Amino acid sequence: MDKTYDLAIVGSGPGGYAASLRAAELGLKVCIIEKDLVGGTCLNWGCIPTKALVRSADLFADIKQAHALGIDIDSYRYDMSRIIERKQTIVDRLRNGAEGLLQSKGIDIYRSKARIISPSKIQAAEKQIETKHILIATGSRPSETDSLRIDHNFVLSSRDMLELKDIPKKIVVIGGGFIGCEFASIYSRLGVEVTIIELMDQLLPGFDREIARRLESIFKKDNIKVLKNTKVLSARQDPKGVVMLSDKSTIETDKVFLCIGRKPYIDDLNLEKVGVATEKGAVVVDENLKTNIPTIYSVGDANGTFFLAHTASYEGAFIADNIAGVQRKLNYSAVPKAIFTKPEIATVGLDSSQAKAANIDTESLKIPFAAVSKAHILGETEGFVKLEIEVKTKKILGACLFGPLASELISGFTIAIRHGLTTRDISDTIFAHPTLSESFLQVSEKGV
Ligand SMILES: Cc1cc2nc3c(=O)[nH]c(=O)nc-3n(C[C@H](O)[C@H](O)[C@H](O)COP(=O)(O)OP(=O)(O)OC[C@H]3O[C@@H](n4cnc5c(N)ncnc54)[C@H](O)[C@@H]3O)c2cc1C
Repeated sequence: MDKTYDLAIVGSGPGGYAASLRAAELGLKVCIIEKDLVGGTCLNWGCIPTKALVRSADLFADIKQAHALGIDIDSYRYDMSRIIERKQTIVDRLRNGAEGLLQSKGIDIYRSKARIISPSKIQAAEKQIETKHILIATGSRPSETDSLRIDHNFVLSSRDMLELKDIPKKIVVIGGGFIGCEFASIYSRLGVEVTIIELMDQLLPGFDREIARRLESIFKKDNIKVLKNTKVLSARQDPKGVVMLSDKSTIETDKVFLCIGRKPYIDDLNLEKVGVATEKGAVVVDENLKTNIPTIYSVGDANGTFFLAHTASYEGAFIADNIAGVQRKLNYSAVPKAIFTKPEIATVGLDSSQAKAANIDTESLKIPFAAVSKAHILGETEGFVKLEIEVKTKKILGACLFGPLASELISGFTIAIRHGLTTRDISDTIFAHPTLSESFLQVSEKGV
């Protein structure tokens, strides 16, 4: 049997996994080379396990609020070991399902580190894999600096955080991006004293400033200390854990969580020898996700564009279509981002400053969740929905949500933006009542 593959994929995260399934559906001969666990960061150490912890923290916080809903619960406590066990059960169940699906589609899985040795050959342990196309879907890893290194004992990575059964009394989170804020929100609701240290002048750098301000004030109410415009010089345990800041002041802490960003993980692939162009540590790709070598592509975190699971899988499926000859164009006009703090945050499309930079005349429409009846029923009226619409056409160009189930609600806004809907289209649609989705109708009615 000819064992030349049509597509050999390095990495089985959302990018590689989606590419493999679509390629197999289209009749291509596909293999995956995975050095660790099927499902990659997202399934094993990222999106899924963190949200399992969020669910436990949410429930614990809800029980604390139960009195307000007429329910008294006299005694309750959490058991971190069981929270971690539940998280692992979910991850294992989903990974088994994913592996089963790959097998059922006839996708070969090689469990080893891959090294690309030519535009059509990959070394996987002792085996040389011949292939017509190669997809680099190797993901990313946490950034470190010369003075701030993860030691997996005192200075932890997100992967370490997901295994922490002995919950610390105090933790310093270095980096106020989305991963840092999600963990801060989980831990503070479980009673840990959390300090976030952020180098920039806002939490969630690059996000809507209003949301960042509101999140900071919610964090303050939850006893999370936020230090902005602050650089950490060192984090050492000697024997007490101490974090030193740039003004030479110190903070004592039990653990440090270092989450100052992630960078593409492409170092061991032999790219330089094969001639694949890289820039700032990421694989360089064109508008079709092709590298400078015509048979080699890259999707997901490895190409350094989005660092999101859903863009990785979108790109993966695109590559499979492309190789199989299905004509498609990538469209990033509506990429949702969700942050699972309490309340949740979700954005999609353009904000006002991006619209201005693109010379589009827009107006912002906004309603508070306090104007939405379902939010009162849930007892979660904090937050708002903001729309950015083009003045001339009333087209919805962007949305920004801070409030209950924002991560679910954002899909409606994403469909609207992706398909060029106007506020008139939305106001001419019947929404179920009473629902949080009505917030979309209510905010659109302000701009017809
Ligand atoms: C704590 C955390 C929470 C997150 N939460 C979210 C979220 O809620 N929503 C969201 O959209 N994104 C989230 N992300 C980001 C998301 O996990 C990534 O964007 C996504 O996993 C990227 O997918 P990928 O396919 O590019 O790579 P990955 O999922 O990283 O998979 C890459 C795979 O390649 C394998 N690999 C690497 N090098 C080699 C090699 N040489 N040989 C063989 N195999 C190799 C790795 O072992 C890995 O399995 C989170 C990330 C973290 C860390």
